[in-house]
Amino acid sequence: MSTVSFPDPAAAAPRPIVIVGGGFAGTTLAAALARQSWPTAREVLLLSEESYTTFNPMLAEVVGASVFPEHVVAPIRPMLGPGARFVMGRVDEVDFARRRLVAVTLAGRQSIDYGQIVFAFGTRANLELVPGLARHALPLKLVGDAMHIRNRVLQRLARIELECDRALRRRLGRLVVIGGGFSGVEVAGELADFLRGALRYYPRVRADELQVTLLQDASRLLPELPASLGEAAARSLRARGVDVRLQSRAVLVGADGVNLDSGEFVDSATVICTIGTRPNPLVERLGLKLVRGRIETAPDLSVPGPPGVWAIGDCALVRNAAAASGSADAPAAYAPPTAQFAVAQGEQLAHNLAARLGGRPTRPFAHRSRGMMATTGHLKGVAEVFGLRLSGLPAWLLWRAYYLLRMPTLGRKVRIWLEWSWGMFFAADITHLRFTRTGQADAEASPRAVSAVSPPSRECSP
Ligand SMILES: Cc1cc2nc3c(=O)[nH]c(=O)nc-3n(C[C@H](O)[C@H](O)[C@H](O)COP(=O)(O)OP(=O)(O)OC[C@H]3O[C@@H](n4cnc5c(N)ncnc54)[C@H](O)[C@@H]3O)c2cc1C
Repeated sequence: MSTVSFPDPAAAAPRPIVIVGGGFAGTTLAAALARQSWPTAREVLLLSEESYTTFNPMLAEVVGASVFPEHVVAPIRPMLGPGARFVMGRVDEVDFARRRLVAVTLAGRQSIDYGQIVFAFGTRANLELVPGLARHALPLKLVGDAMHIRNRVLQRLARIELECDRALRRRLGRLVVIGGGFSGVEVAGELADFLRGALRYYPRVRADELQVTLLQDASRLLPELPASLGEAAARSLRARGVDVRLQSRAVLVGADGVNLDSGEFVDSATVICTIGTRPNPLVERLGLKLVRGRIETAPDLSVPGPPGVWAIGDCALVRNAAAASGSADAPAAYAPPTAQFAVAQGEQLAHNLAARLGGRPTRPFAHRSRGMMATTGHLKGVAEVFGLRLSGLPAWLLWRAYYLLRMPTLGRKVRIWLEWSWGMFFAADITHLRFTRTGQADAEASPRAVSAVSPPSRECSP
């Protein structure tokens, strides 16, 4: 594998600030750096596995087909200001002594020298929390996951129409969502609305054959929000037929359903997992001090130890000076792993980097939460913003407005706003998009492949 060096070692320019990860934290930092007036001209290089940022909080709406997948991603290049570059690649190793990293890019392995390096590579989904989860459950972390779940649900509806075994139809029609936090509530609500809207196109499926079950091991939904909003979310879901089960922990997931800690078995052919994160594999190779799988930072977001290293977003464990309790000596609480805090850390680090490079003192990270929001289905949500509690359509509109404002470029904002406004008044799209290419389609239609398809176990004419 070829190794090339970037930038040209002969060039006199100072080494760049390299940001690893183009999520909420990394892109906010890159854009904020571009707005700074630098004491010394310095290139900013953002490296990320994908060429876009995923608005994870909106993935549930892709599952429920309320929005198109392109509406929950934002291309990184237009977000970067002048002086910033983007390279699509996965960082694999970092040599702190030589201030050099190795990334796997489209052109092979490349080594890149840095002056300052910022880790903002987030976390991964954890499918080890419950036995059977990795094999049988569908995670929701990437856009591809959301599209896969949506296709699986459409496949289930189409298959129920062709089956006559009642138990099998019931198992195919029940969708279990594990986790009653933000994403679990959002997915359950979206799926309930989606199934209701789609039903009219599947005349051989009865409404009572479809069921969304939400499993939450705590005593209420959305523990991050005030109790009244968690209860409002549960009421909203139950009113739309979602089987919300509190104090229900999944202990085993299989191909046919989920075993609960109560001993009950919930039969289901589709289990969606919204719980648990695990560290990014890179984090373990860095050799930095980790606490609960995250890189512990100093109060100003720098990483103690090697020089020129910083960490922000979900991969970092950051104390929030604004959350310190009354006593002046009390340690500040850690910032939660949310999009809002990732963005706030990106903004603050731009300031601290400029201060460090300009020889000025840095500031400890301090951010007061402006509130929390969650959708509970199509046109419905709950929110607490600046102490104001909202539920229903106003909360949902606020949610959409927030993410629309974060989209880069005016043209994209306007296009998405028009499409979202249009979509509010129509049923969700039920296209089951197959990603089949010509060679595969021909192979599937060959006489040999057709004869290998097994007939249904019982005669059941569509
Ligand atoms: C389904 C879901 C729903 C959520 N809902 C909410 C919500 O309602 N409200 C809320 O506040 N938060 C929510 N979150 C959490 C929120 O999305 C995260 O807190 C936020 O995305 C963290 O931002 P980040 O930049 O640290 O990481 P991420 O946004 O995860 O970005 C990390 C980036 O790093 C890249 N990367 C990873 N490894 C490498 C590597 N080795 N080399 C180069 N690039 C790499 C990835 O491709 C990715 O682009 C949700 C998360 C999920 C998964």
